[in-house]
Amino acid sequence: MKFISALAVSAATLASAPAFADITVYSYRQPELVSPLLDAFSKETGIETNLVFLNKGMIEKLQAEGDRSPADLVMTVDISRLQALVDAGVTQPVVSETLNANIPAEFRNADGQWFGLTSRARIVYASKDRVKDGDVTTYEDLASDKWKGRICIRSGTNAYNLALASAMIAHHGEEGAKTWLEGLKSNLARKPSGNDRSQVKAIHAGECDISLGNTYYMKQMLEDPDQVAWADSVRIVFPVFEEGGTHVNLSGVALTKAAPNKEQAIQLMEWLSSEEAQEIYAQVNGEYPLKEGTEASDLVKGWGTFTPDNKPLGEIAKLRPASLKLMESVDFDG
Ligand code: FE
Repeated sequence: MKFISALAVSAATLASAPAFADITVYSYRQPELVSPLLDAFSKETGIETNLVFLNKGMIEKLQAEGDRSPADLVMTVDISRLQALVDAGVTQPVVSETLNANIPAEFRNADGQWFGLTSRARIVYASKDRVKDGDVTTYEDLASDKWKGRICIRSGTNAYNLALASAMIAHHGEEGAKTWLEGLKSNLARKPSGNDRSQVKAIHAGECDISLGNTYYMKQMLEDPDQVAWADSVRIVFPVFEEGGTHVNLSGVALTKAAPNKEQAIQLMEWLSSEEAQEIYAQVNGEYPLKEGTEASDLVKGWGTFTPDNKPLGEIAKLRPASLKLMESVDFDG
């Protein structure tokens, strides 16, 4: 795999007018999470890949490049980002028996415009010292008085929190979700800031007792000598919606509209859904694989089991604008 920075990509693409087909992947996912997969694919098939990591502006970039875009595939996390690519018209549908067989229907777009590859749950990190078993119950309960001054969370406009609030809208309507957000905000120990791991750091420091975060960050903290103490100060609890399960989100892949190497790109998509790739995801990223019959890593399984929420992810993706409006109307970060 060749790793090309976003700034260098135009020049690099021109310079390497391909004598053979490389697949180019635009990714919002960190290179260290994606590279092990692309390397394994290349080793197996001989098809080289270019990974272009982007921080933001993927849609704008694809639209500006139009038909001449070198990108074949886009990879990102978050259901609403996947849907936004479709809505912007920069993807094309893929009809693949392999993908349809490997990825359960609820984790892919009905028209084949995007496919989920892994899932993650948005859970509670709870202080081992200050939170008892059974204290954390539902997402709704996080707005109750018992958590006054005890919760840390990152910005309400972060994609993960917007998706969670969207799910709250799906369960309780906009008014219900607004009341919940106000209650949650009034329970915060400090203004939202930092990332999911910063909140666990704050629990370790005694600033708060619980935080919301994605499951795989536990693995990342355990592997970082500077963060392992944060991880050791908490345990993972899977909250549920009162009439549902635990909120999950996806990482996924889509074929770009302009894909110059469509055939190979679909081959890569199919491979990413294979048992071999799904197991790499499970082991390297600490995420939940989606292919039936593949399992999470032993570490991840040790966190416990949960039932994913019953609201369709497609519905949650569509509620993102409403969710963002609510976050602004309650001045969640203020
Ligand atoms: Fe993340």
